[in-house]
Amino acid sequence: MFLDEAIVEFTSGRGGSGAVSFHREKHVPRGGPNGADGGRGGDIVIIADRSRRTLYDFKIHPKYEGGNGEHGKGNKRGRDGKGMEIRVPVGTVIHDDELDAPIVDLSSHGMKFLLCKGGKGGFGNAHYTSSIRQAPNFAQKGAPGERLLARLELKLLADVGLIGLPNAGKSTLISRISAAKPKIADYPFTTIVPNLGVVAFRDTSFVVADMPGLIEGASQGVGLGIQFLRHVERTRMLVHVVDVFPVDESDPIANYELIEKELELYSADIFARPRVIALNKIDLISAEELEALSERFRAYGREVFPISGVTGEGIDRLLDSVASVLESSHPEAEVFVAAPAIPRDQAKWTIERDEEGFRIRGSRIERLVAMTDLENDEALRYLHRRLTRLGIIEQLRELGAEEGDMVTIGELEMDFTDEQ
Ligand code: GDP
Ligand code: MG
Repeated sequence: MFLDEAIVEFTSGRGGSGAVSFHREKHVPRGGPNGADGGRGGDIVIIADRSRRTLYDFKIHPKYEGGNGEHGKGNKRGRDGKGMEIRVPVGTVIHDDELDAPIVDLSSHGMKFLLCKGGKGGFGNAHYTSSIRQAPNFAQKGAPGERLLARLELKLLADVGLIGLPNAGKSTLISRISAAKPKIADYPFTTIVPNLGVVAFRDTSFVVADMPGLIEGASQGVGLGIQFLRHVERTRMLVHVVDVFPVDESDPIANYELIEKELELYSADIFARPRVIALNKIDLISAEELEALSERFRAYGREVFPISGVTGEGIDRLLDSVASVLESSHPEAEVFVAAPAIPRDQAKWTIERDEEGFRIRGSRIERLVAMTDLENDEALRYLHRRLTRLGIIEQLRELGAEEGDMVTIGELEMDFTDEQ
């Protein structure tokens, strides 16, 4: 298989912090608390999009960040951070590179996956009002965003197949237009491995394969194998490369017809694919000769592009046409399907005992601590009550925690106490 790979860092935005604020009115020196919440951080959402064909963009741009939520200001809630929707080719598998574990397989067009959730905005002090606490003087910090170092993997299948006689200039053309060489993994048919290249052109990218073994192999009845056939089947169009000045002095028209006939014998289906004709090596003939030859080729009713794989002449026009054929080859409407998020165990935590004391781990509990202003006594007391309500204080007591033992959660180190 041909593998396209990219290492990409995604980070969702962090939440804005809540505000500490009190109503201010004439003649009322200090009204009730009205501090607003912070805004949410922007999410990173991945969408499978069939018009994307390679991971080339991610090699150029390997870092994506959602916007941070605004802090609450007085009684005005902070604005949410800007989220990002990132489009990947259908068939992209996303792995957590650090854990070396797959996260999601974006196997069909329109699949949408929340990869990094934006951090929650912190509560403003208005949230903490109760009958016993009428003037809370603390607010919650915004939750941090989620960071993921991801490995994107895509099994590449060719979009464009180059056909033509040996020596027509297919390999030369492919190396001229390729922006990247995909990694070849475990290909069992070494003799017929197509020479594959990722073409980055204007705002799109696609995969071009030179298929030297396609026609010779098929007409000789060589078993091509499933992997190779998949490449041919996925090809949306063909470029027939014709040498305008063959060294054996054969006729370009006769050469063209020979290949077309072989292709028709090989597969009526592939023969029916759209294709264009590239008249190659125009640097070797005069303008008059080229015009006469082009005239004859245009009679086939296909688009004809005079090019030179050596000088580069005419290649942009050829690629423009290829890009527009590819663009029009998938007109179906987009249907968005939400991919099920991998359930994360949010409710759980673990408590470990060591010489120092106790360490509590768990994503929800650690986030709770990260959102607490540890400098603020009132906020700390509030956190302690939350830990009590979650049953953590009781569990610590059951594990033998005594007054004064050290308890660590994320960046918080506190002495164990039953007091609130
Ligand atoms: P393939 O068998 O179709 O892959 O053909 P290659 O790309 O290997 O090219 C065959 C020969 O033609 C090589 O010697 C190339 O240097 C030469 N060639 C390819 N394209 C051009 C071209 O545009 N102009 C000239 N002058 N030579 C070319
Ligand atoms: Mg070749």
